[in-house]
Amino acid sequence: MEFIEVREGLAKILVPKAERIYDAPVFYNPVMALNRDISVLAVEVLKPRTVLDALSATGIRGIRYALETPAKEVWLNDISKEAFNLILKNVRLNLGVEGEGISEKRIAFRGEKEVVANLDDANRLMAEKFRYFDFLDLDPFGSPVEFLDTALRSIRRRGVLAVTATDTGVLCGAYLHACRRKYLAEPIRGELCHEAGLRILIGTVVRYAAKYDLGVDVLLAYYRDHYFRAFLRLKSGARKADESLSNLGYLWQEPNGRFEYTKAFLPEKLPSYGPLWLGPLKTQKFVDEMLSLAGTHSLAHKKTLSFIKTLLEELDVPFHYDTHALARKNNLQVGKLADIIEALREGGYHATRTHFSPVALKTDAPFEEVLGVLKSL
Ligand code: SAM
Repeated sequence: MEFIEVREGLAKILVPKAERIYDAPVFYNPVMALNRDISVLAVEVLKPRTVLDALSATGIRGIRYALETPAKEVWLNDISKEAFNLILKNVRLNLGVEGEGISEKRIAFRGEKEVVANLDDANRLMAEKFRYFDFLDLDPFGSPVEFLDTALRSIRRRGVLAVTATDTGVLCGAYLHACRRKYLAEPIRGELCHEAGLRILIGTVVRYAAKYDLGVDVLLAYYRDHYFRAFLRLKSGARKADESLSNLGYLWQEPNGRFEYTKAFLPEKLPSYGPLWLGPLKTQKFVDEMLSLAGTHSLAHKKTLSFIKTLLEELDVPFHYDTHALARKNNLQVGKLADIIEALREGGYHATRTHFSPVALKTDAPFEEVLGVLKSL
């Protein structure tokens, strides 16, 4: 394997030389630097002691956690022997200490921090380390569902699960049957598909967690660059699980773009989309703290800071209006988004841009008001 050295955050990483990222024997995607930047900031805010990067590939994510956050013990795991060997190289390169072999498949590096490189199926490692990790990161190819159960048992009962899903085609309804199989949910097509997909993902974690009497608080969840990401704080107790389940519900949409949603265990009318999470997509204080840290941190992606600002400012209500879709469905001209938002605010409503789409807005105004503003501009 030929390598090139790249720098990301405070880490320097050897990555395989390859024409296209999916041809490389070990996976590294520079676009995901934004995902890793945000994750590093999240770990900095949360200050977990033990962290698992369960699907580590080159080790970049776990190494950044070790170098850039106060975490004391960071585990980097991958099922691939090539990835494991590269993780070992990269940990040595960044920590400058030699490892101690715990077994053929587990090497511990003890410097200022403890970093453990592990070669195994993530489910097996997570089953072994029961209620051990304060922060557990699942960053798979595609769907994380095959890792959810063991992850929820491997995290401490008040720990945090960070989860990525790149199977946006499934969660956004391009593959209906795959969404039913993997998430036991009905996805929606069209302009609400990304927000609904993110809410299906969170709703799935809530349902998996409930059986362990665990509730879920959303610290931050977003959609970007064809993936979903959520930071979810577990809460211990049957009542907490019940509270989280009560935030699940269903979405309906009419041909003119009007939508409705209801929190309920079963849908009240059909056809409906869900079940999906209808609670908040962020904890304002958490995102605020991330933004404060972002200003002084060596971020790897030039868009990280502005993206966190957008997330912080976004009105946190379920679903949004895509002005282009709304105009098309109602035979209207599209006005400028800034003017539409301004007009809604002048009407006494809250309205903001949303990270889900550059042409969409979130508002607490009723559909008829939004349509009225579109008609008036
Ligand atoms: N987290 C990495 C990053 O930020 O660059 C990228 C991880 S990559 C998308 C997914 C990795 O999961 C691959 O390296 C693959 O070998 C590994 N993998 C797939 N199935 C696994 C399993 N069952 N257990 C452990 N690792 C697995």
